[in-house]
Amino acid sequence: MTFDAEARMRLLFALRSNGITDERVLNAMEKIDRARFVRGVFQPRAYDDTPLPIECGQTISQPSVVGMMTQALDVRPRDKVLEIGCGSGYQAAILSQLARRVYTLERYKPLARSAQTTLQQLDISNVTVLAADGAVGLPEQAPFDRILVTAAAEDVPPALLAQLRIGGIMVVPVGQSDHVQTLLKVTRTEAGPDYTTLGEVRFVPLVEGMGDG
Ligand code: SAH
Repeated sequence: MTFDAEARMRLLFALRSNGITDERVLNAMEKIDRARFVRGVFQPRAYDDTPLPIECGQTISQPSVVGMMTQALDVRPRDKVLEIGCGSGYQAAILSQLARRVYTLERYKPLARSAQTTLQQLDISNVTVLAADGAVGLPEQAPFDRILVTAAAEDVPPALLAQLRIGGIMVVPVGQSDHVQTLLKVTRTEAGPDYTTLGEVRFVPLVEGMGDG
């Protein structure tokens, strides 16, 4: 695998220009090689700040969106994090650098398998990939300090909110449209959820149930 230092520097510059200023997030994104998470003809574009196709008709998210979501999640070193929508495993790998433990759920078994293989090859041992329906979350490991949803929900999924500890943060793209959604930061307080809008994003939809394959 060639390691294109100049292209990676350009990517870090793009992250900074897009408002990613948290050094912990930037360091994690500098360390995790995105080229390991994309395949075939798309590999030369691994350091472009753009989403790219992966197996099962899904996408690896745009790096600046990964950065923005990770920064908003404000992960602490002792945190137990749940990700919904493992996809390639790239976002989970970034989270693994910032959290104590990461659980990531994927409805397509082939994606879950290849993400697990990639993470193993990178010696990342604090991420558990599960082929499961993320719409119901992972009640047996709840509560979570942080929850990151990387597929678009019509609304904040109540099952996931229930699995967020009080004081915990969830970042989730929400919207009725397939084309554009609002990225929300939800902080669960004693009095109920607090919502902050982070901007507009474009994600593949959160689909209930397991995928074919
Ligand atoms: N975080 C990924 C990109 C996410 S793409 C990465 O870093 O590569 C969104 C992913 O969410 C897709 O792989 C899709 O299959 C998955 N997904 C959609 N609905 C889901 C559900 N209910 N449970 C688990 N995964 C789901």
